Order: sequence, then structure tokens, then C-alpha cells
Amino acid sequence: MITPPALPEPVMAPTASEEPSFEAARNACKLCSPLGAALVFRGVRGGMPFLHGSQGCATYIRRYLISHYREPVDIASSNFSEETAVFGGAVILEKGLENVRRLYKPELIGVATTCLSETIGEDVPGLLKTYIGKHSREKDFPALVHASTPSYRGTHMDGFHAAVMALVSALAQGGPRGNRIAVFPGMVSAADLRRLRGIFSDFGLSPILTPDYGDSLDGPVWEEYRPIADGGTPVEDLRALGQTAASIQFGRILAGQAGPGDLLLERFQVPRYKLGLPIGLRETDWLYDTLAALSGRAIPADRQRERGRLLDALVDGHKYLQGRRAILYGEEDLVVGLASFLMETGVRPVLCASGSRSGRLAEALRAVTPPDQEPPEACEGADFAELEKAAAEWKPDLLLGNSKGYRMARRLGIPLIRVGFPVHDRFGAARLRHLGYDGALELYDRLVNAVMERAQDTNPTGYSYL
Ligand code: SF4
Repeated sequence: MITPPALPEPVMAPTASEEPSFEAARNACKLCSPLGAALVFRGVRGGMPFLHGSQGCATYIRRYLISHYREPVDIASSNFSEETAVFGGAVILEKGLENVRRLYKPELIGVATTCLSETIGEDVPGLLKTYIGKHSREKDFPALVHASTPSYRGTHMDGFHAAVMALVSALAQGGPRGNRIAVFPGMVSAADLRRLRGIFSDFGLSPILTPDYGDSLDGPVWEEYRPIADGGTPVEDLRALGQTAASIQFGRILAGQAGPGDLLLERFQVPRYKLGLPIGLRETDWLYDTLAALSGRAIPADRQRERGRLLDALVDGHKYLQGRRAILYGEEDLVVGLASFLMETGVRPVLCASGSRSGRLAEALRAVTPPDQEPPEACEGADFAELEKAAAEWKPDLLLGNSKGYRMARRLGIPLIRVGFPVHDRFGAARLRHLGYDGALELYDRLVNAVMERAQDTNPTGYSYL
């Protein structure tokens, strides 16, 4: 009798408890580092972002920026090939810079490095120095600035901060102290940048916003094609940063690291103020008190009325929001500002997540939490797989974050209030408002309406009057 061979052990699907754990990020809650730098360089008048690396990186970043801002965004690239990756990109960098100068006639070229050029250890500062030595006496030679932005070492926010630091470090010059204020707003919406300009001018102050893409990425319709959109901080203003009366740097996370305000203080003794992003009552009060002290003027009556309207809305809307739970994710400084505001509305932010790893998120959240409340749980280096798992456990009523959380929100059936970057599945992302009393009011209306809409959508009979 022939004995049949033993059958191999069947491979069974793992049970939930045996599910292999993942060490790798799955759909990371962050974007690529040179993207943040490109955004900053588009916030300089006549500024052209230039990536030293592969063309695919420029295409990916362009696609993200265009789908969010719905404006043309050109990003030049030195166009690495296999050969360049082996022998270095000196030749193509020079050729690329020449092409950009000829085609765009920029006032500034901001060179950001991609993963590939960083991995091969390209000496970009040295290459740019050689290029400047060779060409700087030519007519209309632009300012050249370099930001090191390897994506494997940071997020789009790190690239953003690196580019702001590069602008200040390369361009700011000392001189007689003027009365302008250097303002480092962080990565906020184009509409928020325009609002900030208005807030400063209400106090008779003239800000130098670095960067300012309030017009270049949300401008009027063009009669004819132009290579670089109008708007942005003029290069001469960037040079004058060392002569400003004071600097204001927004962001409680940024406050814990060496920022552009610190650089101006160290090099030119410009007095420095570090504030949280002015979202909601307390953080906006802090900004207005600072501006009143700097200008010697009282808070304008219009702004006080705005504050009153926000307070009134918080009273009217508390019955819809009180006790709701929210999960927030996105850029760390934005998440901290939003958490601070939500705690004023009666919503409990239970979890605040970001793809960044500053090591300061928990501390910043504790700092904005009133003494009688629990600080939200902080999660750094987050990805959307983790977030979805956490959301299934926390069972929040609201999610606040960018469009990358849409699928998670849809699967869980939780309303997603779109904030931050990217917002490419809604129209008008450049005009989303968060800052100042009126920005908070707009955001508050969206929060309350999301809760009402969900109640209408999920109740079998619906509601017509809530
Ligand atoms: S390779 Fe690096 S720089 Fe290029 S798109 Fe990917 S993450 Fe960004």
C-alpha cells in the first residue's frame, strides 16, 4: 500500500489577534519636505522654486499645490538622471539655473534639494557659490537661496521652516532700525495671510510677512499669460528684515526650536516675540495685546466687535458642540492652535496627531489646555492606518484635518472639517479662514453646521428645525 505524502500545513488567514504588526508608515500623515520649501519660495515676489533632483519630485509637488490652490504653479527641476545620480549634478544645476533665468526672469531662485541629491551628498552650497562667482555680474542676476530639504529627515513643515530660515539667513541685512515688523506666519492659508496684513495695518503697523503667498497663490484672473504670478514678499523687504523694529513668530511648536525670529535677534538684535497661531479667543487676544503694546494704540473698535460676535456665537452654538469629541491631525502648529480653540467651544479634542516628530507636541498641547480640562493625547509621526484604528476606539464626533483623511472619515462615517494642507476635494482651499476672531468664527460655523448636517443625515426621519 502506498502511503500518500503528508499534506503541507494549510496557510490560514491570521486572526485579529495574530495580525502582523507594521513597523512601516502606511499613508503617512505628512507630505514631502521640498513641497514646503516650494510654497515658501512662491511667497517671494518674482520667486521661482527650483528642485535639485528628479523631475518626478517637481511634478508631484506641482500637482499637490495646484489641486489645493487652483492656480498655475511652475516648479523648475535640474532633472536628475541615472548618470547624474552617479557622477553628480553640477552640470545640470548650472544648465537648469540658466534656463530658469532666461525663461522666467526671476527676482529670486529658491533651490531646494530632494531625497536623491541629498542621498548622494551633493555639495549644493558649493555649486551655487561657483555659479554665483561665474555669473553674478550679469544683468538682472537674481538672489539665489538654498534650503536643504531631504524628505527622509522631515515633513513639508520642516521644508517650510528650512526655506524661511534660508531666506532670512541669506538675505537679511542690518542697518538703521526702521519701524516695520518682521512676521513669520507659518504655513497658513492665503486668505489668512491677507487677513494678517489687515490686522497689522489696523494698528498702524507695516509687516514684512515671510513668506506671503496671499496673492501669488490666490490672485485675480489674468488678461494674459505671465511666467510668475504677481504678489509675494519683495526681495528688498527680505533684505530689510535685519532693520525691523521687532519680529513676531507664530507657532508654539516652532517656538521650541531655533526659528527665524531667533536668527534676527542673534544677528541684528531685533526684539523677538513668539506667539501661538492666533486661532480662537485666547491666542488671538495674545496677538492683539502684543500689537497694542508694539504700536501704542488701543485695539480697534471693529476688532473688539468681532471678538464680541465670536463670543456670542460660542454661546449660541454651545448646545450643538458641548461634550463632542474630536480628533485633529495635520501640521503640528495648526493642530495645537485648533485644539486651543476647540477647548473654548466645549468640544473635547481627544487625540491630536501629526506626521512630524518635533518631540514637543504633547508639551504644546498641555500649554494651551485650561487647568480644569484634560490635555488631548498627542501622537507624533502618525500615519492614517494608526489614526483610523485610534478613531475606531475613540469614537469621535468630528475629525479636523486635511483631505488625506477623507477615506478614513468615510469608512467611519464621521464628518471631516477640512483644514490645513492639502484640501483638494473641496473648492476654495486657499480662502479657508482660521486666524483672528473672524477666522475662528468662520471655522466655528463650519463645525456647528457639520454636527447639524450629520444629525439630519443619520436620523431616519431627518430634521428640519434643530
Ligand atoms: S523622492 Fe523625496 S523629494 Fe522626491 S517626491 Fe519623493 S519624498 Fe519628495
